[in-house]
Amino acid sequence: MIQYNLLKKLTEACAIPGDEGIVQSLIKDDLTPSSQKIQFDNLGSIICHKKGNPKKITVALVAHIDEVGFIVRDIDKNGFIRLHSLGGISPYQVIGSRVLIKDQYLGCIYADKDPAQHISIDNLYVDAGFSNKEEVLAYKIHIGDSVSLRSTTEYWEDQGIIAAKALDDRVSCFIGMEVFKNLAEQQLDCNLVFIGSAQEEVGTRGSKTATNLVKPDIAIILDVASCKDTPQFSQQTRVMKKGPCLCVADKSALGNRSLIELFSTIADKHNIPYQYDILGGGGTDTGSVALYGIGIPAMALITPVRYCHTATSLVHMDDIKNEIDLLTLVIQSINEETFKSILPIPPK
Ligand SMILES: [Zn+2]
Repeated sequence: MIQYNLLKKLTEACAIPGDEGIVQSLIKDDLTPSSQKIQFDNLGSIICHKKGNPKKITVALVAHIDEVGFIVRDIDKNGFIRLHSLGGISPYQVIGSRVLIKDQYLGCIYADKDPAQHISIDNLYVDAGFSNKEEVLAYKIHIGDSVSLRSTTEYWEDQGIIAAKALDDRVSCFIGMEVFKNLAEQQLDCNLVFIGSAQEEVGTRGSKTATNLVKPDIAIILDVASCKDTPQFSQQTRVMKKGPCLCVADKSALGNRSLIELFSTIADKHNIPYQYDILGGGGTDTGSVALYGIGIPAMALITPVRYCHTATSLVHMDDIKNEIDLLTLVIQSINEETFKSILPIPPK
């Protein structure tokens, strides 16, 4: 059984881009016993170095700690709050969701016109029960304050499903942290660093600054993407319960082919299911991390998640377990020779 309580805490924490402190704290508390040192960049990322470093090469696991959300754009005279989104949110998919304003005040989202017509984020408002603008201001709520989706995490035991908000990307934080702890007491042939990157949803910002601090030789980006196995899609790709996805390409980067092959070879050897994947619609931190220095071998390992960027996303426990097992085995296999073998070979 995985540490469900930790995953519940990570997913219920509200941390929109630029406001990631609570997730930083959860990671710091959990990984301090396994860390030689913990660092922070100036954008909100956390960096944990495994005990027993340093070897000659450094592998970074990168999972973003922010989640999509909103900030207050305006407050109208009747006390309704208008929203500016941070990250890609469909207005149709958040109507009826509960929110938390400034981590303190509850509210719910509705739209100012029939959602059967075209609506945008500008049509959304939060009803937090205030009677007028003066009342909202008296609670010291102002433009720019955070408005986070709020949702209770549940484990649907019979189906093996976890239902939660912010599985993008807290399930990856969880997976990276579990792998880090699995390996804490082991002698590895590489240094291991876990980066919880800030501000990914608004342009993969924290991974750029954190990478400058870590200077990794190899990076494995842990992220999620929406499954295409639900009734909206005719083509069944990125299927729940079929294992972690080896990302060949996303909008920001191409996965390092040799690194992808390392994953598939080890998965085959240990009978761990996996899927090849292309993220046609979005980018990941791979784009910024792979461009560090003169470029580093990097790839994204994607957990299949249904209904990303909503108040209720779903992930299967088997996919989590398989990804933890595969990632642990891959890191155990990495040494200086592996590193040399995955670098591109210049022509003679
Ligand atoms: Zn993500």
